[in-house]
Amino acid sequence: MIRFAVGAASDVGRRRTVNEDCAFVSERVVAVADGMGGHEGGEVASEVAIDVLRSAIVDQGIDSLAEAVAHANVAVWERSGEEGLRGMGTTMCVLAVVGPDADGRTSLALSNVGDSRVYVVADAELERLTEDHSLVEGLVREGRITSEEAAVHPQRNIVTRVLGIAETVEIDSWELEPRPGDRYLLCSDGLFNEVDESRIAATLRRLADPQEAAHELVSLANQGGGRDNITVVVADVVDDDGSVAGGFGDRVVRPRRDQVVDLAGFSSVIADRGHSAVDGDGAAAAAEEDDERSMLPRVAAAPREKGTGWFTWRSILFVLLVIAVFATAAGAVAWYAQNGYFVATDDDGEIAVFQGRPGGLLWFEPKFVESTGVELSELTPVLRDRIEAEPTFASFDEAEAYLANMAEQLERSGGSEPATTTTSTSSSITSTSTTSTSTTTAPSVP
Ligand code: MN
Repeated sequence: MIRFAVGAASDVGRRRTVNEDCAFVSERVVAVADGMGGHEGGEVASEVAIDVLRSAIVDQGIDSLAEAVAHANVAVWERSGEEGLRGMGTTMCVLAVVGPDADGRTSLALSNVGDSRVYVVADAELERLTEDHSLVEGLVREGRITSEEAAVHPQRNIVTRVLGIAETVEIDSWELEPRPGDRYLLCSDGLFNEVDESRIAATLRRLADPQEAAHELVSLANQGGGRDNITVVVADVVDDDGSVAGGFGDRVVRPRRDQVVDLAGFSSVIADRGHSAVDGDGAAAAAEEDDERSMLPRVAAAPREKGTGWFTWRSILFVLLVIAVFATAAGAVAWYAQNGYFVATDDDGEIAVFQGRPGGLLWFEPKFVESTGVELSELTPVLRDRIEAEPTFASFDEAEAYLANMAEQLERSGGSEPATTTTSTSSSITSTSTTSTSTTTAPSVP
């Protein structure tokens, strides 16, 4: 039974913060999609395309791989009408085992749109099967630039054909002979723009385990600069006549924004099973996994640490600001509650001066300062009403002047007894504030 032994790895790279690549691997289908578009567009486009392709294959078989890719195109195109997703698109390259048909014949189907690539290593030679649908590839075909110039061309990221831009799309398709021992490589441009083909070929020849090879290629791309997301699927054609039971299930390979660690964990699942399917050496695979796990989080950690530091710094500043605002407000309230004077009757029913606010404010009770020794009942009704209104003053001097003025009015109104009392009262008040003694006593003692 012809199937794939698969290794897969995807990494955000060293410059980007979002991984817009997406891959799908199973024993019969492998695919890589490289999304593009602002905001979340790129992420959504590649994920939608992979999801639709996957269900189209699972539900309807893979008799027409190109048809499944066309379905994926329509799905991305329909979603691209949504706000924030306009203009999104994705590359797609997919390789599938087709058959066996009525004659018992099994073949491989390959479809491609965009500038992700499919290579095959057959008889130790690396051969590129797909043609990039990109601006620079067109220039190379026309003989205007060399492929070496294309590799470093500033506009090498411009694609001329992708899924999701129109309702229909032209799809390149091939039918291939499945030969056990052939190794297929599907990858996004984040790999071949950073690692030259001779290095890719040497790595694919050197590492027998497909998972090790996939991880190593991602690692090389990061060492080469990691300027784009990197996604690599290595699919070895095996014919084990169904003697190896089970195998791994379908997997969508796509680390989320900051989940490279999860990818490493996921990859180890593929590695262990893929490895045992090839030569059963689980220990070596596990050791390799440990190496890779320490590499991948380190690559992803840099921007995240920066983000955490920024957040902490901002949090501390914010808390300090809040504390400062509350302290200032509390200080203002305390000042307002304690500064200021008012005139009212004390517990003995005598007119007195208090510091603070009438009735108190919050937990600040008014402070008794000085009694006049004059009872409220001794006043005329008009003056009594004024005192009962508990008039407030900004300073003790003002309160004192108010009482002196009141004493003068009381004297004029004719009450002799209260007047003398008030006079003595006034002088008793002024004893606490020498500066206003004369103003208080002068009118009351003519
Ligand atoms: Mn890319």
